[in-house]
Amino acid sequence: MTDEILARSLHSTGTLTREQLQTAIKSRGNGERLGQTLVRLGLMSQPDLVRFQTQHVNDEQPHSAEHHSNGHNGDTLAHAEEDINSLPIYIVDHDDSTDPAQAPVVRYANELLKYAISLGASDVHFEPQPKGLLPRYRVDGALQAGQLLPIELSPPILSRFKVLANLDITEQRLPQDGRFRVKIGTKVIDFRVSSLPSLHGEKIVLRLLNHSSLETDLGKLGFTRRDRLMFEKMLQRSHGMILVTGPTGSGKTTTLYAALSAARDATKNVMTIEDPVEYELEGITQTSINADIGLNFARVLRASLRQDPDVILVGEIRDEETADIAVRAALTGHLMLSTIHTNSAVATVSRLRDMGVPSYLLASSIAGILAQRLARLTCRSCRGPVEPNDPRRGEWAEFFNMPVDTPFQEGKGCDKCKGRGTRGRVAIVEVMDIDSSMRRAISADKDAESLREIAREDGFLTMMDDAREKIRAGFLSPEEGMKVLMGHEE
Ligand SMILES: [Zn+2]
Repeated sequence: MTDEILARSLHSTGTLTREQLQTAIKSRGNGERLGQTLVRLGLMSQPDLVRFQTQHVNDEQPHSAEHHSNGHNGDTLAHAEEDINSLPIYIVDHDDSTDPAQAPVVRYANELLKYAISLGASDVHFEPQPKGLLPRYRVDGALQAGQLLPIELSPPILSRFKVLANLDITEQRLPQDGRFRVKIGTKVIDFRVSSLPSLHGEKIVLRLLNHSSLETDLGKLGFTRRDRLMFEKMLQRSHGMILVTGPTGSGKTTTLYAALSAARDATKNVMTIEDPVEYELEGITQTSINADIGLNFARVLRASLRQDPDVILVGEIRDEETADIAVRAALTGHLMLSTIHTNSAVATVSRLRDMGVPSYLLASSIAGILAQRLARLTCRSCRGPVEPNDPRRGEWAEFFNMPVDTPFQEGKGCDKCKGRGTRGRVAIVEVMDIDSSMRRAISADKDAESLREIAREDGFLTMMDDAREKIRAGFLSPEEGMKVLMGHEE
């Protein structure tokens, strides 16, 4: 925040009078920042200044009305049910009372955490720069810069997060990782912390895992009713393998957790093997793999099978040994859920063959495959028709195989979406049920192309079909759909 914007914000919010600000500006020392002067003159305390700057971090950006909903403008946050900024924040299992000297830094760090939560950020990056520490917040998949923190605050803030995550604060040359948990209002949020040495010092990234916001309703994730019912039917099976595929960041994990919630009941023993455990779920045995001590997916899976499981979730099938055990477990009365890194539902079959699983075993073990991508949802508040003569129409029509005069819609940008035209995310999904004709085709070593044709004859709808439907309904802009599905052949 520049001094000018700080002064303007302090005045416009009635925090300080014009006279107080003029006094401070006049008595400002050489090279002194306005904030430092205000603290030196006793016009503001250091924590109050920090809190003010954190809450008004967006004052210099357009469309700022949404973010500081703490009473100044009567506006409320778009998604928050509670006004996060007015609630106290607690670090679970951590006692700060012993070191009062740390109090200002603790409060500053808490404000940063609150701000990240109120934004609905999935990650916060603290990037060391020559002039200070730059926080960047990932919201709906894209990073947005926050307010540069003064250089003198960088080390204490970074140390604070390291202390919370039980990292060694004296170690700055080696990467470390840990986690801590905060409570705010009714929300419980886990922060996964990772540190990495970089050119201008240690960079810390916090990943937010919001337990209360873990969406386990497939409909709310953007599944059509048809896809949801198909997927839920697969999950009711007592055995077989259900695979969720897609690239990194495609929302596979969320879908799997939703699947797990649907599959779990009190009469079943549900186990997960994860890298690492992301969300704690009640009534489920969860194990993190730990490569350092040789605890890999295959080893935990083998041990889990000796623990009388009904449903097992394996975070990812990435090696032959895990693939082999998983397939055999699925054939012997267990419901196996897992992810695999492939582009489409049919490509998953070839990928598993490449991992050495024989076609006949695949044919009898796979119950279903779901492939997905995550796209930005068109903002409901500023959604509108695309002009009939828009030059982009030709490309869209060709890519999606839709008429050029389709009533395409997109977000125009408004206060609610901060000018982006998108708000929230929507899954683009294809669900492949493995029925008897597919089983025969997989067993007969048919390639991906033939499998897709057979599936289509049985009414299989591809991600492309799903995208077209969402474009027609106005949830997805053709531009965003194209970006997300680029390189994905029909
Ligand atoms: Zn909008």
